Amino acid sequence: MGDPKRILFLTDTPGHTVGMDLPLLYPGQVTILDFTARTHTPDILSAYTHVVTLVQDGSHLPRLDFGAVEAYARAGGQVVSCLFEYARHRGFFFSKTYAGGSVLPAIRINAACDITRGFNVGDTIGWFGAISSAPDTLYENQRVQRQIMGLSAPEGVTVLASSTVNGGAVMIEERVGEGRILALDLLSLNRPHFNSHGSLNKYLFPGNFIGGSVRYGKHYPRKLSYGEFGEAMHALAAASPRLKVVNEGPCSDGRPLWSFEMGDPADPTLYFGAAVHGWEWENAYGLLTLAELLARDPLIESMETERLHFKIVPIQNPYGYDHFIQQNARGVDLNNNSSLNWGAFAPAQDVLLPWDYSFGGFGPASEAEIRIIERIIDTCAPRCVMDFHTATYILVLPHRYDAALFGAIHEEMKNRLRDRYFAQQPYNGPYEQVNMDRVLRLGESTDPPSLYPSFVFYAAEKGTPAAFAVEMSGNRDDVHALVMNTDTVVEICLAATRQCLLHRP
Ligand SMILES: [Zn+2]
Repeated sequence: MGDPKRILFLTDTPGHTVGMDLPLLYPGQVTILDFTARTHTPDILSAYTHVVTLVQDGSHLPRLDFGAVEAYARAGGQVVSCLFEYARHRGFFFSKTYAGGSVLPAIRINAACDITRGFNVGDTIGWFGAISSAPDTLYENQRVQRQIMGLSAPEGVTVLASSTVNGGAVMIEERVGEGRILALDLLSLNRPHFNSHGSLNKYLFPGNFIGGSVRYGKHYPRKLSYGEFGEAMHALAAASPRLKVVNEGPCSDGRPLWSFEMGDPADPTLYFGAAVHGWEWENAYGLLTLAELLARDPLIESMETERLHFKIVPIQNPYGYDHFIQQNARGVDLNNNSSLNWGAFAPAQDVLLPWDYSFGGFGPASEAEIRIIERIIDTCAPRCVMDFHTATYILVLPHRYDAALFGAIHEEMKNRLRDRYFAQQPYNGPYEQVNMDRVLRLGESTDPPSLYPSFVFYAAEKGTPAAFAVEMSGNRDDVHALVMNTDTVVEICLAATRQCLLHRP
């Protein structure tokens, strides 16, 4: 989104992981310059829209001309600076704090602005590095966080986030002449591996500053129970005459399956669902955020969303969601329980039993959740069905679809996500931009086409022109990725919304 950036990475360590990550996040837009070997006058810097500084070896500090960086900012340049060189240049007291045991150093957001977009004042989020750059979940000792202590926030300086360990300043914005400096620690935070509590949002704040990361994403302070999630749905609906919460009937554990409904059922329906595999839970918060946005602004991005009928089921498997497992309350993998070709893809097991990871149930649509979803598909005949899962970024296509509509949705999705977020995909996958470039044509992988017993295939068979599964990154053990997750889910849903309006029958 937006104009391409020209980013200069000014460092004494060109091989640093930040020098690998920035070009992946902003392909073709990053130049790396070793400040110990090359001059970096304000003239040279002025060719770039953004300058990022990182000093790894403190003894190299005198060779970084921070005066030139500041002059560049004064003339309107945008600077992201590691805390160390920023603090030394300004004469602030720089500190490193080590924490052990169960202490997870975090930051508390102090100011709502473009850089902290996605978070509210008072939100806390993990922010630390770990010993020898190992994934921070592996070692509970020697977590390190860098801060500036005793900062009295002089003219032009705002402490955007402070340490939950010692109150020190961890993220600072300084207005300098016509430009700005964002100071934060890029050095000790590891690469953002998929479940990192310390570094998952490492590039989110610089991304917001450079432009384009968070548009609709929203942090939720904790994972709600299904009961609390239902209350949150009702609270949203109570605040909006346009939004209804519907009790779709009892689930396998007896609790109601809640859906959001918006619009006139006579209009084309879009069905969005998540967490049919209960432990793939994060996308539910994206759908909650989407419902809030659509209820508040039916003309979002100038789209006439009131000409569509939305059926949104954020948590399609309440029992699995609450227990952080794949199956429903009867040990069934709901993704294998559709009445379409049930039993066709039973996984190889010695004896197939309930609670086996992929147990498809006791018969076609034997499970209450699937009967409800198939009933909604039969009743509404949706134009689009998107079922959000989490594994890694990929779209999964069934055996039939409208190539023009699907292609248009996919193209818009890809464009919306470009140059926004950066993370490792689970579990040992590559570090890459969050993207939706890959497509798995599951229904076409065999001849004749496979009919996989999931409700996505059921919808396709019943005539939905764009039914597919969306695999995101998730199954994390806490809420540290929810800004990124909610943002990307909303963008994907808006892509489908726009294209369904443009291709409205
Ligand atoms: Zn899944």
